[in-house]
Amino acid sequence: MELELVTVGTELLLGFTLDSNAAELGRTLSPEGFRVVRSCTVADNHCDIKHAVGTALERAGFVIVTGGLGPTRDDVTKKAVADLYDAPLELNPKYLEALRRRFAKLGRGPMPESNASQAAVPRGAEMLPNSRGTAPGLWLEGEPGTVVLLPGVPEEMRGILRREVVPRLRQLAATAASAVTQSLVLRTTGISESKLADTLEGIDEELLGVTLAFLPGLDGTDLRLTAWGVPALEAVSRLDAAAATLRPLLRENLYAEGNVELVEVLLDRLRAIGCRLAVAESCTGGLVGAKLTSIPGSSEVFVGGVICYGNESKVRDLGVPDSVLEERGAVSTAVAEAMAYGVSRRFDTEAAVAITGVAGPGGGSPDKPVGTVCFAARIEGRSHSVTRWFPGGRNAVRHRSAQMALDLLRRMMPEL
Ligand code: AMP
Ligand code: MG
Repeated sequence: MELELVTVGTELLLGFTLDSNAAELGRTLSPEGFRVVRSCTVADNHCDIKHAVGTALERAGFVIVTGGLGPTRDDVTKKAVADLYDAPLELNPKYLEALRRRFAKLGRGPMPESNASQAAVPRGAEMLPNSRGTAPGLWLEGEPGTVVLLPGVPEEMRGILRREVVPRLRQLAATAASAVTQSLVLRTTGISESKLADTLEGIDEELLGVTLAFLPGLDGTDLRLTAWGVPALEAVSRLDAAAATLRPLLRENLYAEGNVELVEVLLDRLRAIGCRLAVAESCTGGLVGAKLTSIPGSSEVFVGGVICYGNESKVRDLGVPDSVLEERGAVSTAVAEAMAYGVSRRFDTEAAVAITGVAGPGGGSPDKPVGTVCFAARIEGRSHSVTRWFPGGRNAVRHRSAQMALDLLRRMMPEL
């Protein structure tokens, strides 16, 4: 079954808000076998909404709209769609009463009269309860096709989608053929997108039975495998077989499959062999520590670290010798190694990573241009250091560096 999306919101077009609703809808619906074939975004404008929903209905016959259901005058989606169906807006007294009770329960005074507009429903529409907010979803069937209106607030949209929309769609699809579209992500790091593409050049997507998409980001390049429009069991077996073909080609650049972060993989490996970790960060200023502490339970493994941004901190807090700093410079593998050694001593850990580099935009030199970063990792007395050059601005260099430091240590450890 095919459907189209229309996301409504002037803020989406101005770029102030990222359209996460369209992404969420695609992610939720495609594994269920519903193909989102087109998505468009329009402003909070009666004419634009009516036109976008109308043409989408002509093409697909089924459209999901998000946004513009709020009580304020800039929210006009409901009226625009009601006009499209020639359905007058009618006040639903039961829902109005429920809204008033909801406000009374909150104990912040009577309901603002503008909220009453949320109890107005196009004639013939079914209300989809919203447990997280005041704007209900609406399901409207009629001459141009079926349209589902959902609130713009991502939390509310998600709640109604999962509890009300997906079950109804499943019922609709039960009568139709049950083909699904399913994806599996193979996550790689430490290899560029183009090199990865070269590695997989000999792969025939048709033989594999899945399509490949390369998705580069600051954490590395994700390879998304997708099986399109096949029965659920067939999709799973195609993805399994394709992953088995690709794994040996990706080698140690592959760090995880599915929705797993590199830092989780590293923490699991360290935990499995009973090693604890400390970090010494210069140009990343705590990004590695932030990644580690974002994972619940990381305290079993991650002990702490030092942000040694200035040279005096590298010497005073980590015991990096003055002479090494002078002879090799702060951005050098020798200093990175001394930092890793110093921090593992200071925190009494078996493992450590250290980062020192030129994040830019200033501070570069001909032999150490902006983006030059030196790394060291230690584990149980073994140590390894490398220098890398990263493209991009300050933010990109810092984020790539944090990921690289974790990856350096991962590659020194046995797989689980
Ligand atoms: P609305 O229902 O249009 O009043 O939107 C309520 C809130 O949800 C606003 O703060 C929007 O920025 C946010 N929002 C609306 N549409 C989207 C969307 N497609 N993706 C993410 N956030 C959205
Ligand atoms: Mg809006």
